Amino acid sequence: MSGESQPVLEVENLAVEYRRGRHITRAVENISFGIAAGETLGLVGESGSGKSTIGKAILGLAPLTEGVIRYRGTDLSTLTRAQRRALAKDVQVIFQDPHSSLDPTKPIGYSIAEPVQIHEPGPKAVVRERVFEMLRRVGLSEDAAQRFPAQFSGGQKQRIAIARALILAPKLVVCDEPVSALDLSIQAEVINLMAELQHETGASYLFISHDLSIVHYLSDRIIVLRKGHVVEQGTAEEIYRDPRQDYTRRLLDAAPIPDPVAQAQRTAAREKDGLTARTDAIVSHIR
Ligand code: ADP
Repeated sequence: MSGESQPVLEVENLAVEYRRGRHITRAVENISFGIAAGETLGLVGESGSGKSTIGKAILGLAPLTEGVIRYRGTDLSTLTRAQRRALAKDVQVIFQDPHSSLDPTKPIGYSIAEPVQIHEPGPKAVVRERVFEMLRRVGLSEDAAQRFPAQFSGGQKQRIAIARALILAPKLVVCDEPVSALDLSIQAEVINLMAELQHETGASYLFISHDLSIVHYLSDRIIVLRKGHVVEQGTAEEIYRDPRQDYTRRLLDAAPIPDPVAQAQRTAAREKDGLTARTDAIVSHIR
């Protein structure tokens, strides 16, 4: 547990199998990587390639069939319940759908405060001030705290989910397709925000997306997955500028997203190079 150079996370020879009755799906196999402090590792691949499974295995939400996952040198499979609870403070998640972390029946201030109430409870006024500060950091006003999730746009809801994920200053954030459901212009804003917050907090990100053009903006290194296997890995620039596999190239040109309207919008905007200009500015900001 010492030394700045120790990776925040190490995944060694990970395999995950899902069992449904007698049917077994080997979702990922032979996966190894490390993530250093403040680093972003991008995980990219087509739908069903095993990206979310790796994120879930790190979060303790998918079965570890083979391999070891170490957080700051400690094998996660050896943790007691209490240690896992402590880990839950340091390792947070942002999902594609912010609804999964926001209770529709509660004002959003409640959802942002919840991790604090669980892990670092304190006087009401102190918790409230932490919520207000976090709201400001994600670009929302204090009075947003009293409003309900349905009163916000998709991009605002994702900002709220980010506020909730980052309020405890986690060491590692698993970001599972965090911008895939958003309009293109909003995607760039949210990526910009995530880069800024990473710059401020020094958190490491595991950034999961089917879209290599998005992954490359935030990532230092990228792992390309296909059918549960690593097919290519390298620095973000290597993978983006000079992919060795046709498969990887296809993740750039024809990132499969389920909404054809959004796909068309994204293609048009990319042709205008709007996202590239904005997000290149983001990348220069964080590095
Ligand atoms: P991705 O995130 O790249 O879309 P996933 O990790 O969700 O991929 O899925 C990888 C493989 O594991 C797919 O074949 C998928 O059908 C399967 N899978 C994912 N979750 C489950 C589950 N809970 N039960 C059974 N199979 C699953």
